[in-house]
Amino acid sequence: MIIAANLKTNLTRQQSASYIEEVNKCAFASKQDVIVFPAISSLDKFDAKVEVGTQNAYPTVNGAFTGEIGLEQLGEFGIKTILIGHSERRHILGESQEFIAQKFRYFQEQGFKIVYCVGEPKEKREAGKEEMMEYISAQYAGIDTTYENLIIAYEPVWAIGTGLTPTLEDIEDIHAVLKQKSSAPLLYGGSVKVNNIKDVLGVKNVDGVLVGSAALYAEHFCTMIQYADEIENKN
Ligand code: PEP
Repeated sequence: MIIAANLKTNLTRQQSASYIEEVNKCAFASKQDVIVFPAISSLDKFDAKVEVGTQNAYPTVNGAFTGEIGLEQLGEFGIKTILIGHSERRHILGESQEFIAQKFRYFQEQGFKIVYCVGEPKEKREAGKEEMMEYISAQYAGIDTTYENLIIAYEPVWAIGTGLTPTLEDIEDIHAVLKQKSSAPLLYGGSVKVNNIKDVLGVKNVDGVLVGSAALYAEHFCTMIQYADEIENKN
């Protein structure tokens, strides 16, 4: 399974290095594919089993894109994994689907592993299944769903950082539909924590999780990795 942590705008460079060192120990003892997305200022060359990815980058080698980083900066640390389409970038930073697709194409051409996020806000969920699925489908526009280095994360916006989660039946339903759109590994994200990860990982068509707040403590994230091993060993 794929167990990924999005640390967002949290932890200093030093704290992130300690975090990755600690998580690395658990990753070594585990069969799971572990990915960590630290803040951009914490990127570095890590001699680790944990795969370190960037939460964002601009589709460029370098240039006049104030506040952004490009391939040149990622290359310095050998970073080849990127998170694209996260709801905070869509809704807070205002990234359009067109721009997200442009970014996707660029990093696909560079052979990056792409963790691509989709998910509906609360009002779309409340508008009924048809409207909700139409909304999510629009987030596939311009995205090569057959890309071999693609991982998709279904993350309902209303579940991110709120402690709310869809029911397991809802996750199963939506994942079944999304699996028809792409056979890429499909993660669930949105308020996954130590006390619900086992249930979530047990849902059909859930190939892993993307965890935000609950992954901020290495110890908790390690417990989640261990739980994934336990579930896999049982099956
Ligand atoms: C996320 O931001 O990708 C996420 C899943 O956050 P949280 O786990 O805090 O809901």
